[in-house]
Amino acid sequence: MPAFQIIEDLAPKGKTALVRVDYNVPMLDGEVSDDTRLQRTLPTIRALQQAGAKIVLLSHFGRPKGQRDDHYSLRPVAKALAHILGEDVAFANDCIGPEAQRAARQLKEGQILMLENTRFHPEEEANDGDFARQIAELGEIYINDAFSCAHRAHATTEGLAHLLPSAAGRLMQEELTALSKALEHPQRPVAAIVGGAKVSTKLDLLGNLVRKVDILVLGGGMANTFMAAKGLNVGKSLYEPDMLDTARAIMETAEKEECNIVLPHDVVVANELKQGMTFRIFDANEVPDDMMILDIGPSSRTRLIETITMCKTIIWNGPLGVFEIPPFDKGTNEVAIHVADLTKRGKILSVAGGGDTLAAMAHAGVTHGISYLSTAGGAFLEWLEGKTLPGVAALSASIVPAKKGHVII
Ligand code: AMP
Repeated sequence: MPAFQIIEDLAPKGKTALVRVDYNVPMLDGEVSDDTRLQRTLPTIRALQQAGAKIVLLSHFGRPKGQRDDHYSLRPVAKALAHILGEDVAFANDCIGPEAQRAARQLKEGQILMLENTRFHPEEEANDGDFARQIAELGEIYINDAFSCAHRAHATTEGLAHLLPSAAGRLMQEELTALSKALEHPQRPVAAIVGGAKVSTKLDLLGNLVRKVDILVLGGGMANTFMAAKGLNVGKSLYEPDMLDTARAIMETAEKEECNIVLPHDVVVANELKQGMTFRIFDANEVPDDMMILDIGPSSRTRLIETITMCKTIIWNGPLGVFEIPPFDKGTNEVAIHVADLTKRGKILSVAGGGDTLAAMAHAGVTHGISYLSTAGGAFLEWLEGKTLPGVAALSASIVPAKKGHVII
């Protein structure tokens, strides 16, 4: 796991903490329609309040293209946060300049100020040094609690960490710890379940996972490409003919790395992708030309559940079939319910996230049954792909080892 400091290491009492959060929340008619992201930052806010810090919240919201656009104002988000906390959240109309400076200066210990959308300035996404310095002047310490934005090197996700003593917030800390437990130092055997539509969008992911996990279970449209690469007929199924060599290369690497790739050996097929279609079950080597594979079959489900039961760690990205359209959700649902059951009984550590995975887990009713369900789509995937996340790397780089707890820059 990358080394990073936590809130307490920065001795926050009396200091103004610039806290980067991800409040890019769903909005309906000018109001926050899902406050999950706000709720998940409460542990950091409470920890800073208890420690006697003054809190300045920074976030982007939507894609205003570097211009002020009221449609993308964070003001309604400040209102929603105040409602959840049951206390005032001050708001400044800009994240730099005199109004922000005045509002930050007026804060008393434990009080909260939210600054306007950082992306109203093109310098945010350009990671402009001058812009970062103007924000840094508003506070004394920097807390990054936006793991979901850590794959972007922007001024408030990366730049600030080079200017102020920095630490991970509670959510960032939780996410890094869970991912490290699952992928860097997992209890073995560890299996990765990777589904979804295409191999081409998950090449780096597959390449990294075959080197790290003991078992790689493939489902969804991407399994079709692997089956075709093995010479099986996939009929009218979604598959990528130009990825066959790539799929073969991944299977070769897996063999060298002693990673066992598991493909479905029976499948659920239909003529068309429509709700209520008559479906049939075939062995994977008997799929008719006019049919499409839409889910893993019952025997594959049973074998997959047996495989998972032997494992200690499960990493999951992507549904095993077209989970949005019953009955092709059955493979994903049953396996998800089993993963949740093993997790609840303390038999496995499970980590899931990225793309449609959250929706698939919610559809299966196991949102709370996974040890760690990551809400950080892109960042979660890049981590699984083995990439360095600039936001996390900057936190590690800002550690001054000899002065831990009293960082001096
Ligand atoms: P991804 O965002 O790559 O995880 O892909 C998720 C999408 O893959 C979902 O919308 C699923 O409906 C789709 N999918 C899963 N299995 C299949 C399949 N056998 N054929 C076509 N699409 C699939």
